Amino acid sequence: MSYQMLYRAWRPKVFGEIVGQEHITRTLQNAILAGRLAHAYLFCGPRGTGKTSTAKVLAKACNCLARQGAEPCNACALCRAVNDGVAVDVLEIDAASNRGIDEARELRERVKLRPAAARYKVYIIDEVHMLSHDAFNALLKTLEEPPPHVIFILATTEVQKVPLTIVSRCQRFDFRRLGRSEIARRLVEVAAATGLEVEAGVPELIARVSEGSLRDALSVLDQVATLGDGRVTLETTHSVLGTVNQEVLAKLVLHLVAGDAAAALRLLQEVEAAGKDIRLFAREFADFLRSLLLWRVEGKAPGWVPDVPALLELLTAFAAAEQEVRHAYRASLPLELAAVRFTYRQKEQRGTAPAQEDVTLDGISRAWDEVLAAYRRERPSAAGALARAQPVRVEGRRLFLRFEDEFSAQNLMRRENRTALEETLARSFGGRWQVTTI
Ligand SMILES: [Zn+2]
Repeated sequence: MSYQMLYRAWRPKVFGEIVGQEHITRTLQNAILAGRLAHAYLFCGPRGTGKTSTAKVLAKACNCLARQGAEPCNACALCRAVNDGVAVDVLEIDAASNRGIDEARELRERVKLRPAAARYKVYIIDEVHMLSHDAFNALLKTLEEPPPHVIFILATTEVQKVPLTIVSRCQRFDFRRLGRSEIARRLVEVAAATGLEVEAGVPELIARVSEGSLRDALSVLDQVATLGDGRVTLETTHSVLGTVNQEVLAKLVLHLVAGDAAAALRLLQEVEAAGKDIRLFAREFADFLRSLLLWRVEGKAPGWVPDVPALLELLTAFAAAEQEVRHAYRASLPLELAAVRFTYRQKEQRGTAPAQEDVTLDGISRAWDEVLAAYRRERPSAAGALARAQPVRVEGRRLFLRFEDEFSAQNLMRRENRTALEETLARSFGGRWQVTTI
């Protein structure tokens, strides 16, 4: 079977299938059941959130010959005509392409005519903010004295561009951007119902980049399914979206915390050279850092993930860069600057102490009394435990301690006590320390 146009195939046909806009569909259904339909509705909200779909369901529901509760039957002649786009009494006008005064004049003449077959003539005007000044005037005249058999449904992504005189004559509904989990869930449902094989992680990835638009999300799923011949893999999804896999993001984190500006810049250039979307990359990287931070805080992070202070600093730097990327003349520049600034700050911080010098066990043992005294000032409650420890080995910035008793070892290895000791060592010897017991 063909996987083309999932969005069309899965376009909601009843109110109950419209995802994430229950505050609107419930009100509309109540109005239908109570027979209190307005003459003009204004549907505002971001693209792909279901404005046109809702308009069509509403057009069907108010004309359906065999309505079931407030839902259209989708089987009668009128419902089918709307679904096929051939209903004579439901007119879809795309204001983006019909801006002329002729259209507007025609509209004024046409609304006077009674519907041919249906109870209501429904005008769905998409992107209504694009109408010309004269067309708005014609529309306003009609809205001031609406014929009883006409319902206008105006849809727009930019309500601030619609004249207030129009807005004030409509019942307004604000469609909200869908949450990532709502979109991911819908993708899983559609995939299951279509028999698509979808690799784990794909729905979440598509949901992340589609910015609240279910239509965009479904059209990406479509493209990936078509390319992959019915199989939807992470790799194909990355190539369709212009995103990179998480290994690349992880590699960038590692270059940055290692203070390797050259490697970080090289990686960014490779991403750009591979034709990836840098704006999307910036967003994905900031998202990735955020999930690393959450893992770290929850204590679920694998070993390579940097500690909380480093992650906080990375996240601050790259969240700002992500904002700048949107307006930058050269998209990669803010990322490159953030990378260089971060690595240099790391070097600076290490540079305040004789950081890159080797620290020997002998050096530590000689300074041990001072370390003890400094630690006693920081954490008096754990200083006794440290006093019962002896430094026995140093590897780079990792110190191995041997304790006289198990209790002291456990006490000192409690997270806050250990962190305080690592920080004390960092202040005395520079670098990032880790403490291990033997
Ligand atoms: Zn029907």
